[in-house]
Amino acid sequence: MVDPWRFESSLAHHAHSTAGRVIKEGLRLGDFELHWLNGGSFELDGGAMFGVVPKLLWSKRYPCSDDNLLPLAALPVLVRTPESVLLIDTGLGNKLDDRERRIFRYKGDWNLPGELDQLGLGREDVDFVILTHFDFDHAGGVVMRDDGGGLTLTFPRARHLLQRTEWEDVLSPDSRTVKSYRPVNYELLKGSGRLDLVTGGFEVARGVHLIHTGGHSRGHQAVRLESRGETALHLGDLLPTHAHLNPLWITAYDNFPLDAVRRKEELMTKGASEGAWFTLYHDPFVQALRLDREGDVVQEWRGR
Ligand SMILES: [Zn+2]
Repeated sequence: MVDPWRFESSLAHHAHSTAGRVIKEGLRLGDFELHWLNGGSFELDGGAMFGVVPKLLWSKRYPCSDDNLLPLAALPVLVRTPESVLLIDTGLGNKLDDRERRIFRYKGDWNLPGELDQLGLGREDVDFVILTHFDFDHAGGVVMRDDGGGLTLTFPRARHLLQRTEWEDVLSPDSRTVKSYRPVNYELLKGSGRLDLVTGGFEVARGVHLIHTGGHSRGHQAVRLESRGETALHLGDLLPTHAHLNPLWITAYDNFPLDAVRRKEELMTKGASEGAWFTLYHDPFVQALRLDREGDVVQEWRGR
């Protein structure tokens, strides 16, 4: 295992100006451009994020507080292709109550509408919302509280894409998932006509493919992006941070741990062999990285 901290980012942060305002440049992937949006900052216990991995090992790769809490982000990835605007996951949203905010040390800084605006986009410009799965830190922004206090679909025009098995489990959760699959995040979507359930692999738009993985949840899915021969893999909660590169380092939240290890290993080996970017959802430090065939980090992107 390589120590990601020894690599300095070789990529400077560029900014360009559009219509008089400065817009941070995203990660270029062929004709696609990727931006990581603020879906909320929170903290989780080290044991929850690293499962059976001893703290002695993971603490060399990821910081934690005295009470063993890890700084985490939820960073939905906005993908602009020549034809469409896609969003991978939606963050924690703005509906958590005080108790929930306290438990997760949630800063309440979810700001997808504001950050879209900074990119010159509105909520209605998002064509597709890809949901890797329906845990509240990924699907909490599907429905938002508006200025009047009412609930509304955050992306009213978007097709929302979810694996059918995930949706089945959302509607009949078990005792372990019931707290994470929250009705307030899906009731409005249910009757909206904006939900598209898929089974297995699916091409959402040109160069954007869904890959069913299972592992974390039964219906967890990954996303593969490809444009002009450049690729990126978004493995969702199978690869939450730069410290989870070892396929055996999975979270304690994974409901099907052996599936998680097997699928993660397959996808990471394939991605590394084709020089893909691995995009990260929960990492406030590094948002994407590339590996060589040995699994060593050769490039990092810090886009926040
Ligand atoms: Zn997550």
